[in-house]
Amino acid sequence: MKVGPVAIGGDAPVSIQSMTSTYTYDIDATVKQIHELATAGADIVRVAVPEPKDTEALKHILPQVPVPIVADVHFHFQRAMESIEAGVHKIRLNPGNIQDRKQVDRVIRACRERGIPIRVGVNEGGIVERKDKDKRAVEKARLEENYEDQLVGIMMDKLAEYLRIFEENDFGDVVISAKSIDPRIVIKAYTAISERYDYPLHLGVTHAGPKETGCIRSVVALGTLLANGIGDTVRISYASDPVLEVIDAKEMLNCLGLRPRVEPELIACPTCGRIEIDLIKLVQEVRHRLATIKTPVKVAVMGCVVNGPGEAEGADVAIFAGKGKGIIYVQGEQKRTVAESEMLDALYEESVAFAARVERGEVQLRTGGVTIKPPDPLPRADGSLPLPVVTG
Ligand code: SF4
Repeated sequence: MKVGPVAIGGDAPVSIQSMTSTYTYDIDATVKQIHELATAGADIVRVAVPEPKDTEALKHILPQVPVPIVADVHFHFQRAMESIEAGVHKIRLNPGNIQDRKQVDRVIRACRERGIPIRVGVNEGGIVERKDKDKRAVEKARLEENYEDQLVGIMMDKLAEYLRIFEENDFGDVVISAKSIDPRIVIKAYTAISERYDYPLHLGVTHAGPKETGCIRSVVALGTLLANGIGDTVRISYASDPVLEVIDAKEMLNCLGLRPRVEPELIACPTCGRIEIDLIKLVQEVRHRLATIKTPVKVAVMGCVVNGPGEAEGADVAIFAGKGKGIIYVQGEQKRTVAESEMLDALYEESVAFAARVERGEVQLRTGGVTIKPPDPLPRADGSLPLPVVTG
């Protein structure tokens, strides 16, 4: 399946999606945010189109953005038709939200004519029947029995009902999503769907919350599924700047080996009672500086020379900090010792220089196995040497 130039499903790499938080009719703000999301690594961006002025804006937005756009349609089939007419690359549609089946059929026909895929989703929030009172009572009773399993069962039933509409229209260009705020339900639902259907899967945790907790919620659910080979495209969603969603989705895929790392990887020790500098501040400063480097150099910031070298093994560039001084290593070789005030600049300089050598083909990145010979321990303020420690 193709969403513009981006392939989803099959052997295609897992793609990253996000959604704008602007009013789509605010063309400049929306274009600006789509560019920010694309720069952060989003492959596909979704926009809400609740009103005609939003679909009208699409015509102006689409030519100005570098990634395919998905129109998020809820209750109004006209918005879907207008979005298709404007040239969007995909539609998100839940047939349950559109009253008239004929209208759903019209959207499907229009998508087929233009080769536009449709995401069909079931969300925990809107899953229990609202219109049919009897059906609602049955579903409510099911949920009282065993909430988790019955909810997944209802989601599966609803999904089958929706998919029948697409099958009856002989339309197979479908991506499925089944979101919940509960990671355990997300894992169960997508696992069940992957066992029953061959459609590509759009993974997400709905209403995951602020970044701090939403990140854990999302990565628990999506990471578990992806590690089991389930999922073709992902959206991490936060009640926050959507750029953060993309950054975290990218890191999740990097960690799972599902997307090649293109930017530096920062390793840092958690600090302990042996620390003699403000390492946490240094780590944050290094993180910001490294954002300018576009080579996947592995950089380590370690709090001491005692355990640091062992724990930083595999880093291309590393600093081991001690009282007032830091020792910088480049691919296992001791390079220089710098004063605390110079640590940030020196580590950055060495990282930039190393990245440039990688880009010129003079040296290769190593995916591990950089053995760092520990330097002599830096003396403590009182002149004593710290004792080696063994950590588990
Ligand atoms: S032993 Fe050294 S490297 Fe490890 S956490 Fe403590 S200060 Fe950091």
